[in-house]
Amino acid sequence: MEYLSDRIKSLSVSQTLAMAQKSGELKARGIDIISLSLGEPDFNTPDYIKEAAKKAIDDNYSRYPPVPGYNDLREAISKKFKEENGVNYSSDQVIVSAGGKHSLINVILSIINPGDEVIILAPYWVSYYDQIILAGGTPVVVEAKLENDFKIRPDQLEAAITGKTRLIIFNSPSNPTGMVYDRNEMEKIARVVEKYEGLFIISDEIYEHIIFSGEHVSMASFDFIYDRVITVNGVSKGYAMTGWRIGYIGAPLWIAKACNKLQGQFTSGVCSIAQRAALAAIQGTGDSQKMMKEAFLRRRDLICGLLKDVKGLKVRVPQGAFYVMPDISYYLGKSDGETKIGNSDDLALYLLDKAQVATVGGDAFGAPDCLRISYATSDDLLVEAVKRIKGALERLK
Ligand code: PMP
Ligand code: GLU
Repeated sequence: MEYLSDRIKSLSVSQTLAMAQKSGELKARGIDIISLSLGEPDFNTPDYIKEAAKKAIDDNYSRYPPVPGYNDLREAISKKFKEENGVNYSSDQVIVSAGGKHSLINVILSIINPGDEVIILAPYWVSYYDQIILAGGTPVVVEAKLENDFKIRPDQLEAAITGKTRLIIFNSPSNPTGMVYDRNEMEKIARVVEKYEGLFIISDEIYEHIIFSGEHVSMASFDFIYDRVITVNGVSKGYAMTGWRIGYIGAPLWIAKACNKLQGQFTSGVCSIAQRAALAAIQGTGDSQKMMKEAFLRRRDLICGLLKDVKGLKVRVPQGAFYVMPDISYYLGKSDGETKIGNSDDLALYLLDKAQVATVGGDAFGAPDCLRISYATSDDLLVEAVKRIKGALERLK
């Protein structure tokens, strides 16, 4: 007999991780799977960062680190916010956590009471939804359409705000669509937030360094809502450090203090060695980031060009991150023999089975007509993957 809490029963399994696990198991059985499911750079962590971690071991960074992170790391993050994002966060306003995912749940648990509403913008990153549920909040989904480049209009946002709305989660560049809001579009959203006292906005900027045209704009740089923005970031994507588990926030001091209190009872300060590596990453020259960005841009052009030739897919060319989210609704309701494609998850499973390509169905992202493809893999594999996808889709009648 299992006695699980209602809390855990209310949570779904992360579909990005579930699909990655499934494809990993098939690979381990010797099946030639091409993995376009998990969103992580395929590059190794740059050498200068690895050297810093090795040195930290030798320098005996082996004791409990301070709960909110080492002071010099928080100062370096504070400097980074000022220089790169034009945002003033003192080091006291910075809290280092075990990945951006951990930073997000800290903030959500710190400000959401049961019954509070949190607005998320579909297509949204999977974990936003379930983290809100975990905090007892109610996710309110505002849908951005492919026809509008997967961006919401300010009036859509405003229409979703009620007396119970406490928080909006915003993410540009976006996982899963790769879309990037420009300054003008962001300012309009910021103006909506400004109108409602007690309404906060998390700006998840974890893909800020992977942007192909235009500039990254930080929500907190609009000074009229500065004290209502919590900026979430981390080193996972920009520095190919997904496994090191370092994320951070910049926030109003009272929110930073709350996250510190939570970490003090929950995780303590995060891995000392990883923090030293993150310090080196943030203080680096940015050369490796430039190289990775160029590779992602080349791959974006490659995969979007190939996907446009696949019958029935509608593709919006992403401007950042390393995802593309084609609309696959043309194939819903079609069959290959006994296999019927009822929804996007069925299609992802069909492609895994028949094309040996792992993707993630759009349902978990609040985008049931779409499929998420992570193109953070080699050019050759991308060409082969789209060839296989095309072949399998052609069999659907
Ligand atoms: N936000 C978004 C939009 C993401 O795609 C990810 C990737 N996992 C995260 C936050 C969290 O990243 P991590 O926990 O690896 O730092
Ligand atoms: N953010 C990545 C993704 O969306 C990693 C997996 C996860 O943390 O959910 O695939």
